[in-house]
Amino acid sequence: MKITIFGSGYVGLVTGGCLADAGHRVLCVDVDKAKVDALSSGKVAIYEPGLESLIRENLAAGRLQFTADAQQGVNFGELAFIAVGTPSGLDGEADMTFVRAVAEAIGQHMTDYKLVINKSTVPVGTADLVTTIIQRALQERQKHIDFDVCSNPEFLKEGAAIGDFKRAARIIVGTDSDRVEALMRECYAPYNRNRDKMMFMGVRAAELAKYAANAMLATKISFMNEIANIAERLNADVEEVRRGIGSDPRIGYDFIYPGCGYGGSCFPKDVKALNRSAHMAGYHPALLYAVEEVNHRQKQVLYTKLMYALGGPPRDMRIAVWGLAFKPNTDDLREAPSLQLIDQLLAAGAHIQAYDPEAGTACAALYAAASALTICESSHAALQRADALVICTEWPEFRSVDLMVLAQELGRRLVIDGRNVFDPARCAAAGLTYYGIGRAAEV
Ligand code: NAD
Repeated sequence: MKITIFGSGYVGLVTGGCLADAGHRVLCVDVDKAKVDALSSGKVAIYEPGLESLIRENLAAGRLQFTADAQQGVNFGELAFIAVGTPSGLDGEADMTFVRAVAEAIGQHMTDYKLVINKSTVPVGTADLVTTIIQRALQERQKHIDFDVCSNPEFLKEGAAIGDFKRAARIIVGTDSDRVEALMRECYAPYNRNRDKMMFMGVRAAELAKYAANAMLATKISFMNEIANIAERLNADVEEVRRGIGSDPRIGYDFIYPGCGYGGSCFPKDVKALNRSAHMAGYHPALLYAVEEVNHRQKQVLYTKLMYALGGPPRDMRIAVWGLAFKPNTDDLREAPSLQLIDQLLAAGAHIQAYDPEAGTACAALYAAASALTICESSHAALQRADALVICTEWPEFRSVDLMVLAQELGRRLVIDGRNVFDPARCAAAGLTYYGIGRAAEV
């Protein structure tokens, strides 16, 4: 099939790369000309395991191309995926500026049938909005051209995006049209062989399913962080509690790790947008507001614990920070708990020595004006002459560190572990003062 993808970010690139890899001919459109030029020569600016080689192989095979020309994009594919950003607007609602722009471009340039597929995470009613925008543009051109709009939300995880796309648990399509169903089945056929993973449903249900999935995952995290905070005050170890409850198949072990809060480009904005939609529909989503509030509080715990352990603000101290990305295996810093900590450390007059295997460059750019922040080349370099260590992201390499070396390097022998990477007993044996999340007798 000939497929156009609007938006060459995490979702657009993975979708484009994987569909090209399956044998389709794919044209990716992005408004960022510099990004298009880099991608056309096989350079992928974001870190996502396997993505650059996927893009290069399919460019070389002639199945994948990039352009900044929207008209060329509209003319190319019978299928047009919208995979542009939907960031938080002023009141927490999804900002639809980029989705609207793509819909307008399609309406202005289309000359034959198009199936427009909303892959961006968008509020319920967006398929109708896109339909209206395209219809209006066609009316202005006095054209009668057939088109369909469906919803196909994306459930990939950054850090494991290609595997998630190719071996998706489910492929949801919101439509009531047989023609759309047939086209979507053909599009996804290469990734739908093992069993039928395609679920067809009402377009509004498909749009809501994406928000419901992210809200559920965010709820699991905030729930476990709430239990961790209770565990600390009741002198129990939340990691033992986690093992205890995960063994119940109704609860399960997945996604119940306590930590220093969720971040990323999806959970924070999607919970906000769902709350806003509920509010606008006259409903007060009490549970989901609490999920946000608990997360907001949880992002403060690293600094609170540091202050408690030091007996005051870390003014003029050197604080090593390990992990900046919002989770391992990505360089994405959006809404990362590390940013909250860095802001608090800078405001307190601390010197920060930060290390992340992938997100260092992006963090340096974000804090270009902050001379008190140094991005280090290695986890060891970040410890040099540091007073204390704070862990924000559970990159696997942090697990194998020699705790004796850590104790020698850190002036105050203090570790604040926001992801429960280390074992408290082994830290104590190495002479470290250790604070994790929910690990008994802590603040
Ligand atoms: P992103 O910010 O990484 O990429 C969006 C891209 O769209 C940018 O490159 C931007 O230049 C481009 N763009 C903006 N306007 C455009 C236009 N008019 N025409 C063409 N390109 C345009 O965003 P992302 O992380 O890929 O997310 C895209 C959507 O998918 C969002 O709605 C997001 O919520 C959703 N989503 C993201 C993830 C994730 O893990 N990142 C997972 C599932 C769903």
